[in-house]
Amino acid sequence: MAKTRPGISATKPKQGKKDLDSYTIRGTNKVVRVGDCVLMRPSDCGKPPYVARIEKMEADSRNNVKVRVQWYYRPEESLGGRRQFHGAKELFLSDHYDVQSAHTIEGKCIVHSFKNYTKLEDVGAEDYYCRFEYKAATGAFTPDRVAVYCKCEMPYNPDDLMVQCEGCRDWYHPACVNMTIEEAKLLDHFVCSECSEDDVKRSQNGFHPSPVSDVKVEAKRQKR
Ligand SMILES: [Zn+2]
Ligand SMILES: [Zn+2]
Repeated sequence: MAKTRPGISATKPKQGKKDLDSYTIRGTNKVVRVGDCVLMRPSDCGKPPYVARIEKMEADSRNNVKVRVQWYYRPEESLGGRRQFHGAKELFLSDHYDVQSAHTIEGKCIVHSFKNYTKLEDVGAEDYYCRFEYKAATGAFTPDRVAVYCKCEMPYNPDDLMVQCEGCRDWYHPACVNMTIEEAKLLDHFVCSECSEDDVKRSQNGFHPSPVSDVKVEAKRQKR
């Protein structure tokens, strides 16, 4: 199913066109270059802006600027829709390209790798992340498998707080281990119920939990 975007579709090459290295967003002093990610005005004002990566910029003889873009899809725009593990700032890099008027560009943004996004101290309005590529025609994702965590075996949603078990190094949602988020934030360290049983069996021998607990993702485990 084709996705419709506002603006202009691809035109035939004409005389007098020239490639641009940069473009200043109308009404701002923000400069956009090839390779940058931008927010583009949707046709429906009630919708969030579209996100795209600029592939090419071209001005015609009357200085109308057109940009060739590769779209990012938001989870709700994908065939499968938004799922529980999709974060608020999650985008999928699609195989859907388009040509748009540069006038629809309303701002710049940054699409981080998933790892870099989880390391951000502060997530600003312009920060997004991408961990999947998306085929617009089939709805298929690459990679089609991701690491899962917790008893609920869900991929990591960076919007959700998780606590790490010092024994098995797996990460858990507070709710899945009968804790509130407030309780989890106050924890100095955490050992899951399975590991606390093992710990008893092992007596005191050789198990020294490190006094670290936080809400970052480190230990990756691949399932299915
Ligand atoms: Zn869980
Ligand atoms: Zn554990």
